[in-house]
Amino acid sequence: MKAYKIIQSNIHRNGLCAAHDIKKGKRIIEYKGKKITNKQADEDSKYGYDITYLFILNKKYLLDGDFKFNKARLINHSCNPKCEVLDESKSKIWITAMRDIKKNEELSYDYGFSFDSDYKDHICKCRSKNCVGFIVREGSRWRLKKQANS
Ligand SMILES: [Zn+2]
Repeated sequence: MKAYKIIQSNIHRNGLCAAHDIKKGKRIIEYKGKKITNKQADEDSKYGYDITYLFILNKKYLLDGDFKFNKARLINHSCNPKCEVLDESKSKIWITAMRDIKKNEELSYDYGFSFDSDYKDHICKCRSKNCVGFIVREGSRWRLKKQANS
């Protein structure tokens, strides 16, 4: 039985939620896609502006997850995520539970976008208490707070 199901998301379009209670540390779904080189990503305009489904595997390869068969692509970003990305062998990426997740809770993880000039293109609607309004990785969010205070 699958640990997830597709739902109408509270955050953005479709999402995934837990089909049953999931224990912390459990693997939920593999993030599947096509392995491409950095060079291909640079040269193909498909990857020009939408980085949402690209995962960096290593210096040479990226994983393009923009395929219908990759259900994990439906998982939304959250500033207070329930899942994290485990890339053990650098060729397989798993979305795992960061903490115990209850049945029907929406799955989410930190997309890990860096804080750069176009961060405003990626609005976050996760509605968690600590939401900074944009999809920016946890380690860079202090920059946003600093900006808001200045
Ligand atoms: Zn948020």
